[in-house]
Amino acid sequence: MKIGLFFGSFNPIHIGHLIIANFMATRTDLDKVWLVVSPQNPLKPKKTLARDHDRLHLVRLGIGDNPRLQASNIEFGLPKPSYTIDTLTFLKEKYPAHTFALIMGGDNLATLHLWKNYEQILAHYDIYVYKRPAVELGELATHPRVRVCEAPMLDISATYIRDCLNSGKSVRYLVPDPVLEYLESSSMYR
Ligand code: ATP
Repeated sequence: MKIGLFFGSFNPIHIGHLIIANFMATRTDLDKVWLVVSPQNPLKPKKTLARDHDRLHLVRLGIGDNPRLQASNIEFGLPKPSYTIDTLTFLKEKYPAHTFALIMGGDNLATLHLWKNYEQILAHYDIYVYKRPAVELGELATHPRVRVCEAPMLDISATYIRDCLNSGKSVRYLVPDPVLEYLESSSMYR
């Protein structure tokens, strides 16, 4: 199977993430998309970053019964901070039957040349890029491993959702209903 890895802090997951994940899982040659939840970095302030298992739980709630999407906690057990190349190497060893690819926004592609071992990433993995509003893709957009996809762009961020929750505003329709219910019944982000 060809699996697209969509990394994020998902703090919390919102429909912007899910629309991209579902687009990549249904409109490209990817068979599945794994939403890989980044763990808390012990060296970084965690004031606004919810606990790992809460964010993972919300990703699972957001995905619901979509068989093409899956939440992954693979990075929780890896050394921190987790570098993408190390996670890819680990996954390749753990799942030799699968082919892995990366999914990223155009904003990330533009700075990919700063990532640890980025040449190695480009040499071995396909990268599916979705455009972000007003972001130039940069030189790597024409690299043979890079596929630029025309996925719908939504101007929503997890920061905006946290701000709404913190000030008591509704986030209905910005997150899937089961996520909304969980957020409303918990004290997360308040
Ligand atoms: P924050 O506001 O906390 O920085 P975020 O919503 O940007 O969070 P992340 O979990 O950091 O979410 O994002 C995971 C990936 O999803 C990132 O590569 C980010 O660029 C992308 N992403 C975030 N929001 C959207 C959106 N509305 N549409 C498409 N991609 C998005």
